[in-house]
Amino acid sequence: MLNKRGNEVRVYRLLPDAHKWPLSWIEGCHAWTLPGVRCPLCDSWGEVALEYPALKTPHLKRSSRSARWPVSLDEFKEMESALAKQLPSSTKLGPGAEFGPFTGKVVGRVADFMWKSDWTLFVRRDAYAALEHKGVRLPVSVAPSLKGRSNGIAELVELQIEALAVWNVSSLKRPSTCQLCGFFRNGLPDSQTPHILLSSIPSHVDLFRIEQATGTIVCTDRFAKAAKTLGLSNVAFKPMAQSESNWMPALPAISKVNLAPKRRSLAANSVGC
Ligand SMILES: [Zn+2]
Repeated sequence: MLNKRGNEVRVYRLLPDAHKWPLSWIEGCHAWTLPGVRCPLCDSWGEVALEYPALKTPHLKRSSRSARWPVSLDEFKEMESALAKQLPSSTKLGPGAEFGPFTGKVVGRVADFMWKSDWTLFVRRDAYAALEHKGVRLPVSVAPSLKGRSNGIAELVELQIEALAVWNVSSLKRPSTCQLCGFFRNGLPDSQTPHILLSSIPSHVDLFRIEQATGTIVCTDRFAKAAKTLGLSNVAFKPMAQSESNWMPALPAISKVNLAPKRRSLAANSVGC
């Protein structure tokens, strides 16, 4: 597959290296949150990974189980609309979006990449600098407030990874979007994953999310090559398919363990927040 300039494009899903680093992770939450939403058609839901550590929204409730509890669709739309006026116009909002610096604790040894779940990513400052030195274009980083006994905790920063790419809907069988709340269903069985729309892959940053599956962190070949050359720890790369619209390729089957995470159940929220 070639991009507009005729160059081959490869993208990968970024995941923790669970085989080598099964005992290292991060717990905690961001400072503020939008609630979940209760849709008359879709039931209650919230995004897993619309996370903006660099944006401060002190007029929202502090993150907690009760702050994330779903509100009516009308109430949510009112809150979302008021918030949108105060944030950069490019900020994608949705039920369960989180804002502000992360507070929490580190469990286990500190690797170059550290994770809270598969969709909240921290990186050591020296690894961040080394990637930039190799020409990798990284998202903005924000210092968290982390506790723990391991060496290197103060060196960790969180990356504000934004939802910039989209699925190629022509690679889906029966995609649908709720006309009331916007909930997206890709219509594929769990054994299949959609293609990324090639033209939506950003040109200004090498790490991003999928808009319809915010829990999926994606990197470019440039990022993957640099991280492998540097030997950075606790990161794995799973190739993803990409295609242009109106082209209907055969969909690759993937193992269940690598499925994109679902939007979260609002009954089971972040640890300790
Ligand atoms: Zn809905």
